[in-house]
Amino acid sequence: MPECEYCDATISDEDAYLTHLGSEHADELGGIDRRRVADHGSLNESDDAPSPTMAYVFFAMFAFFTAAMIWYLVFVGI
Ligand SMILES: [Zn+2]
Repeated sequence: MPECEYCDATISDEDAYLTHLGSEHADELGGIDRRRVADHGSLNESDDAPSPTMAYVFFAMFAFFTAAMIWYLVFVGI
């Protein structure tokens, strides 16, 4: 039976242990444990989920270039 390194809980098996780590100690996991939990698929937060911030950045760039193009067409293109 594995014992939790973080809170001394005794877990029934390895599978339940990784689930326990992911749900109870996701913020305090070390690098190796974090990867084991991530591989197991029980980590709540996902690193490869698309960040909403990037969507805002792309939208801002798109809006900027659209505005620049309109400005160019209106003041330079004619
Ligand atoms: Zn624990």
